[in-house]
Order: sequence, then C-alpha cells, then structure tokens
Amino acid sequence: MPSEDTLVFLAVDSNFTSMDAIVKAMEDFFKLKSSLDPSDRFNLVFFTDKGPMYVEDFTFKWEQLLALLKREKEQIVNPSFESGLFLALTFILDIYKLVSGKYFRILVIKDGSVPEITKDFLVNDLIDKVRPMPVFLDVIVLGYYDDPDNVLIQNMINISQGGKLLSATTFEEFQTMLREAAETKLEIKVGTWDKKPDYKMDPEHKAFFEQLAAPLEPVDVITPDMKCTVCFKPTSPIGGTDALVRCPACKTAFHDTCLVSWADQSNIGIDHVFRCPICFYLITLPEFLVQEVSGGTYEGFESFLQEIDQDEMLKAQDAEKGELNLILKELEF
Ligand SMILES: [Zn+2]
Ligand SMILES: [Zn+2]
Repeated sequence: MPSEDTLVFLAVDSNFTSMDAIVKAMEDFFKLKSSLDPSDRFNLVFFTDKGPMYVEDFTFKWEQLLALLKREKEQIVNPSFESGLFLALTFILDIYKLVSGKYFRILVIKDGSVPEITKDFLVNDLIDKVRPMPVFLDVIVLGYYDDPDNVLIQNMINISQGGKLLSATTFEEFQTMLREAAETKLEIKVGTWDKKPDYKMDPEHKAFFEQLAAPLEPVDVITPDMKCTVCFKPTSPIGGTDALVRCPACKTAFHDTCLVSWADQSNIGIDHVFRCPICFYLITLPEFLVQEVSGGTYEGFESFLQEIDQDEMLKAQDAEKGELNLILKELEF
C-alpha cells in the first residue's frame, strides 16, 4: 500500500472533553501507525480562541507533534467542523503539489461541543474538486448522543475517496477505533493515476489541476555549466529548440522536449501536468508542446530517475527543519 500522510483534526473543546484522554489516544495512534509504515507522516489541526492552528508540513516526528498537543491542550476550544475540514483540505492540496504517490487521510475526532454544520456546501464543493486525489475522510464522534449532523458528514465521506463515520461512547471504544484506523490503509474507489498509467482525468476536474500545477520557468541566460539534467547534452536528443526551462521549486534545468518524455510517464492523468523528476513538484508544460513532441523518448532516462527516493528526500527535509512550528490560520469563513 502507498504511504499515507494523516492529518488529525481535533474538533473538540477542552471544556467538554478530557484532553488527557485525547493525548493518550493520539500517542497510541501515532506510535502504532508510524511503526507499521515509517513512511507515513502526520499533522494536527485544532482550534484555540485565536482560530485554527496546524503545523506547516506533515512530519515524521510524531513525538514532537504530541509534545505540541500536550503544551496546547488546555487552549483547545471553539472548534468549527466546516472551517477545520476546509483548512485540512487546502493544506493537503498544498502538500499534494510537493509529493508524489501519497495517499492522504483526514481523521476527525468530533465531540458534542461542535456547533451544528451549516456550511457543508463549501466543504462539499472542495471535496468534489479534489476528488481525483487520493483523500480519505474518517470521522469519530465522541460521546453519548445522536449527532444530528451524521447525514451531512456521511455525505462528505461519500464524495471523498472513502472512509468511515464511527461513534465512540467509551474511551475503550475510541481506542479500538483508532487502533483499527492505524492498522488499516484505505483503498481508492474511483480512478486516480496511482499505478494506473493509462488513467485519464475526467474533463470536469482537469482545469482545477491544471491551475494547481506551476509552469516551468524559462532560462534566459544559459551559462556553460548549465546542462539539461535529463540528457546532459547541449542539444536535446529528442529535437526541438534546445531551449532550457527550470523547475520553479528546485531550479533544475531541462530541455523542454526532454521533459515531455518524462511527462509521458509521470503525468497525473492530464498529459501535460506531471512531477519534476528531481523534487516531485507538480509542474506543467504547454499542452501544444507535449502533443507535438509526444512519442519522442530518450533511453538514458529511466535509470537516472529511479535513483531518487522520495521517502529519503522527505526524511532528510524533515530532519533539517528542527522544531515544529504551529501556524495560526486566518479563518476563511
Ligand atoms: Zn535534454
Ligand atoms: Zn524540481
């Protein structure tokens, strides 16, 4: 199963739910999930009286995430289900631009303090836009009550790639549900590009993902040491203008025509939207260029690309970052 980055949204209020129980349950969850697949990463979203907070990136360092939660637990108040979920989805969209082949999971822990859901249409609209992405939604409702929002929540789960709506009335039940969530990875139900090279994205979703990808930057001044990272030649073996373009994230230079044959293998279901072979950033080439050059291949290509291990790259980046910083997000609504 692919690596699964999990964002836990604590839609709870410390005046309502025992935060020590939540902390304990989270510790068990992170520990178990991370031991079962060390390539899974984590993040947290919760509300304080200042607004929703989260860490700027997913992290492997769940112990630090837990320490953060322990530090902030008594400040956790006034959750909003729609705002928190909206934030979780926009955060995942940003991360999706940076990493390839991941599954994303949102796990919401919801208590009886959460106000009734009224803006579900805003969340539904966003879930529908990201539908070709592997995003799963699980919701665990805590406490002895019949949540009037169950139908709306189930609807959100149905338009995502899947997940479960569960209700826990005891701490033991809650722990069991979390243990099962940690042990079970979810499977995608509608087509995505994952392990399906012939996948073509549904036209209704195409424009959104085209917009999400960044265009390559033109290289105006070519210095003698600047070479195409695919073919290492001054002239592209595939032909074309020999113009160099640069990844906007890692600044690696390529012939645009050399990149087309890479786009052919690594696109996300739209021929000209694909990932940088060096840093996995979501990039795009002009559609006409891809159509013109399509079919051209460069044989040195595949062996070179297999050398880059995304998991190792992410671990190195995460280790370099040091302490985790909480970010306060301006409420969108
Ligand atoms: Zn080249
Ligand atoms: Zn790059």
